[in-house]
Amino acid sequence: MRPLLQLLFALSSLSGFSQNAWCGTGLPDQQAELESKINVESRSTITIPVVFHVLWKDSVENISDERIYSQLDVLNTDFRALNANLKVLSKEKQNLAADMQIEFCLAFVDPFGNPAKGITRKQTSIDNIGTQNTVSIPSKAFIKNSSLGGTDAWDTEKYLNIWIGKFQSNTILAESKFPWDTIRSEDGIRIDPEYVGIHCVDALKKRFSYGRTLTHEVGHYLGLLHPWSADCTLGDQVQDTPPQRNAYYDCNKVDDDECGYIPLVENFMQFSDDLCLALFTHDQKKRVDQMISKYRPKLLSNNVSCFPFYYPTELTEDNLNFYPNPSTGCVMVDIDLDTKLEIELEIFDATGRLIHQESNIVMSIRPIEINFLQSGMYFVRAKSNGKSVTKKIIVL
Ligand SMILES: [Zn+2]
Repeated sequence: MRPLLQLLFALSSLSGFSQNAWCGTGLPDQQAELESKINVESRSTITIPVVFHVLWKDSVENISDERIYSQLDVLNTDFRALNANLKVLSKEKQNLAADMQIEFCLAFVDPFGNPAKGITRKQTSIDNIGTQNTVSIPSKAFIKNSSLGGTDAWDTEKYLNIWIGKFQSNTILAESKFPWDTIRSEDGIRIDPEYVGIHCVDALKKRFSYGRTLTHEVGHYLGLLHPWSADCTLGDQVQDTPPQRNAYYDCNKVDDDECGYIPLVENFMQFSDDLCLALFTHDQKKRVDQMISKYRPKLLSNNVSCFPFYYPTELTEDNLNFYPNPSTGCVMVDIDLDTKLEIELEIFDATGRLIHQESNIVMSIRPIEINFLQSGMYFVRAKSNGKSVTKKIIVL
């Protein structure tokens, strides 16, 4: 039995969340209809400045910069169709995939012109700040308002605000506002820290530990809907996503669709597991372009400074990193490198003995997780394209 299905019945009591699964994004209103009269010119790549607001009570909720960087990597590869799990799909499905031509960068200047790093941090004494809302109508999210103990949004017309704070239950992982939602101070995404970025988790939690909860929520932020509808029509107002009656909850629903179409379980707007989510479609891209043009035009012309998305083609000291380090047995090896390049990894113990070797790794997911059985000092050597870099890690 899949745990999420068992928990569906508990969700109706969660105020502010109307969706009956892990995504808490509400149902659309009439403004979600496709605005077919809007013509979107062919465009160059859009870069969206992002700020992550971390609100933490327990120190484990104060997730590392590296986790957040890995999350940004996931968003960038997914929205540029550079994710390696797309390459293993059938040609037919690969042809459905669109390069969304949207990139994300950490904002290096705040709305007042001060230098920033795209991440704010604040300790809180509030339990489950991620899901606390006022009872007023419209309600306000504690995490999004400094007067309620959270952090105020940066100008929501120019920045994508992502608040990270503990959610009350494990049934909902994140929630996004749609572009047509009107309360600017609430615009953006909130997410439980457990589901941000790529990190070491136990086997039961791996379904959502590869950063694609935010890929899905950013899809909502840009106007995309879930692709299902009870009557097998266009649940998401998008032509090239096959009609489906219900949500898919894993990667293996391919022979079980009531609407008579081949299920596209790999679409980022499904509820499938992170490792099989792989693509946005061409018509989803069209809808996003129309939504940005109508509701988020300042994203097209923002002048916010940030580091652009870029993967080097050469391995260097700077683009081989580990986190956490020291660790307690599980380490993420984060290699910022062109996803097409093959990588070889070797691990040596303190005496110089080779204890592990992997060859011809094309990074299906980045970073790579390595589990160590014994504490001690180790050396990890990465090789790619004729270059070699070695760095030390400590296992406690
Ligand atoms: Zn959703």
